[in-house]
Amino acid sequence: MSKWDKLSAEEKNRLVARHVMNWQEKPCESVLAEIEGAWECDVCGLEGDWNHFDKYADHLQLPPRYSENMSDAWEVVQHIRQTWESGFISKQGRFLYDLQWFLGRKANLIWPELLFLLTPDAICRIALEVAGAITMDGEIVEEVKA
Ligand SMILES: [Zn+2]
Repeated sequence: MSKWDKLSAEEKNRLVARHVMNWQEKPCESVLAEIEGAWECDVCGLEGDWNHFDKYADHLQLPPRYSENMSDAWEVVQHIRQTWESGFISKQGRFLYDLQWFLGRKANLIWPELLFLLTPDAICRIALEVAGAITMDGEIVEEVKA
């Protein structure tokens, strides 16, 4: 199992936010909301229990759920389309090629059948690989802080 597979969703999302989306990390201007014996941040949705209130009190804003939610992952696809140089031997071209290779590696499929295998996690993983933050094997190049 690669390091990528062992990361929490939040860690994956933060990696994508930082290395692909140029998302600026900032402290959350949170408003506390109590939910059934736990707390939840009104602003970014971070959750925890009262034993970990310290994590709530002073936390960084959660990034969008790029690796969990297809509509957020689609922002990554659109960002790559709009900001990464296009062409076969470009970062954008490599993203498309590597995504096809990654999705099809077990099933020997090509587009458009690969659409059925497309996941937010795969989009994020390959975007980070092309951005240089993880290796093809899913090893993290730069340490993550969550
Ligand atoms: Zn928050």
